[in-house]
This record gives sequence, C-alpha cells and structure tokens, in this order.
Amino acid sequence: MEYAENILGTIGNTPLVKLNRLTAELPCLVLAKYETFNPGNSVKDRMAIQMVADAEEAGILKPGGTIIEGTSGNTGMGLALAAVIKGYKMICVISDKQSKEKVDILKAMGSEVHVCPTDVAPEDPRSYYSTAKRLATEIPNSWYVNQYDNPSNCKAHFMSTGPEIWEQTDGKVTHFVVGVGTGGTISGVGSYLKMKNPKVKVWGIDTYGSVFKKYHETGIFDEKEIYPYSTEGIGEDILPLNVNFGVIDGFTKVTDKDAAVYTARLAKEEAMFLGNSAGAAVKGLLQLKEHFTKDDVVVVLFHDHGSRYVGKMFNEDWMREKGFID
Ligand code: PMP
Repeated sequence: MEYAENILGTIGNTPLVKLNRLTAELPCLVLAKYETFNPGNSVKDRMAIQMVADAEEAGILKPGGTIIEGTSGNTGMGLALAAVIKGYKMICVISDKQSKEKVDILKAMGSEVHVCPTDVAPEDPRSYYSTAKRLATEIPNSWYVNQYDNPSNCKAHFMSTGPEIWEQTDGKVTHFVVGVGTGGTISGVGSYLKMKNPKVKVWGIDTYGSVFKKYHETGIFDEKEIYPYSTEGIGEDILPLNVNFGVIDGFTKVTDKDAAVYTARLAKEEAMFLGNSAGAAVKGLLQLKEHFTKDDVVVVLFHDHGSRYVGKMFNEDWMREKGFID
C-alpha cells in the first residue's frame, strides 16, 4: 500500500508543465512549476510546514498554542492545514483587498479571520502587520509567524522547490521567473539554482505600486512607488528580510490589467485555472523576451489556484468595473 500519513505528507513534488500557446512568441522552452497541486492549492504549503516545524523545534510553538499570521490567504491556508493536523489554534489577519473566497476558505479550515484596511501604512495600528503583532502580545501561548522575515520561508524553497526544479529539468534550467511578495520563493529557489549553476538567471515579477524594482535598481526605498493595486500576492510596501536582492538579476513590473487579462487567458488558452500572480508572471515573461534565446529552459512558477478569484478576473462584471475589458 502507498499512502500519506496525513494531508501534510502530500505537500511538494508538484509537476512541471510546458506552456504551449501563451508564450509561443518566445524562442525558448517555457515550463511552469505548477504549485496548485499542493493540498492547500498553493506553493505556500511548503513554507508553512517548514515554519511550523522549525518553530516547534526551537520551542517557540508549544502544544495547544495559537498560530497568528498576517496573510493574503495562501500562507494562512498552509498554516491552517498544519494547525488542524497538529492541534493548534489558527488566527489569520488579512487585508480587505483580498478576495472574499480566501476569507471563506480560511474559515472553512477552522481559522479565526480578522480583516484590516489595506490603504494604511504598515506601522499604522490598524494595518494587518500591526494587528497581527498586537494579537500575538495579547494572546497567551501564541506565536507570530511573520513570513516576511522568518528565514524558514526561504529555507523551504531552498530545500524543496529549488531541488525539484533542478531535478525535473535535469539541471538544464537557465532562467527562473517568479512573482515576488515575501521573497521566500525567489530567494530560496534562486539561491539553490545558482548554487548548482551560477549562470542561471533569476527574474522577479513586481507590480506597479510596489517598491522592489526601484530598490533593486537604485538602492532607494522610494515611498512615491507605493500606491494601491489590485494584483494579489506580489509586490510590497516594505522590504521583507526574505527578499535576497543579491540572487535576483532583475525585476519587471506588470500592470493590474495585464495580470488579470493574462490570468483569464491562461484558463482559456492553456486550460490552467490559476491566481492572478500567474497571469502577471506570464506577461512578465513576454516583457523579458529579449533576454531569452533558443536553447534556454525557462521555469516560471505559478503560485495558486483560480478558485480563489472567481469573483475577480473570472467575473466579467469585476473586469469591466476595473476597466480591464470593454
Ligand atoms: N503569488 C501569490 C498568489 C502569493 O500568495 C504569493 C505569496 N505572497 C506570491 C505570489 C509571492 O510569493 P513569495 O511570498 O514567496 O514571494
């Protein structure tokens, strides 16, 4: 018999799938690391179980404890899986920009969810960063995960996602392209691939309204770069410790409209039903066209599933309201 001891045992070992139509104008082979095959439907399951395991080992997460995290939903889902299986209470603090589906899913998994305003500075007491920190000081036997600065986030990708990509491509991967939020995925995978082959190029996908691209190019944290945007999961108004700018060769920014339109096209043209950071990544690949040649093997990572966005880019009224379609 072959079975997992519990659902956590099914995390990782996701497939690599060729893109055939949307990136046909690129000269290279484009392979998608398809992370929705994880049980929480996103790549974030990997870092969630790593962060929990490391916190248990360090003695900062104790039996019967409460896990608290500020999360756009996917990390919350991964943590919720671990909380259910391991017997912890889970509190997710989420910003009001996130889709209603994400909140409902977290509640279905037994989590308590606090919704906070998006359009306030991170240091504002109402922000989701501040609220998560405050709850962790108020609730006894609780642990504030802090995926932005928690090194186990990046470590999970160094130890699992990176090696899987290397092995699945037989060491032939030449470029890794991925959306950047906390930075855990790009930094962990990027440093693993560069350790195996320093010639591998690593590109980050950023959003308009985020500080990453300018900071990478100039070293300046420019507050003028910060404004609200609708793409979920990527771009930041802070510099998380998990973004290792040293392993990133460059960033390209993708508009909210392009991210939404390309996510809708992924479903219709590749039968890939995914979240909008996947659409942003595909459009970013096309923007980087001049960097690729015929023999390149480009791996792009798709973070999460389309079911969390049915009220958004898979809804024509929402797309029209935003001005993304006529
Ligand atoms: N896309 C989605 C949908 C996400 O939830 C996240 C995580 N914030 C990312 C991309 C970015 O991944 P990372 O945090 O590892 O940079």
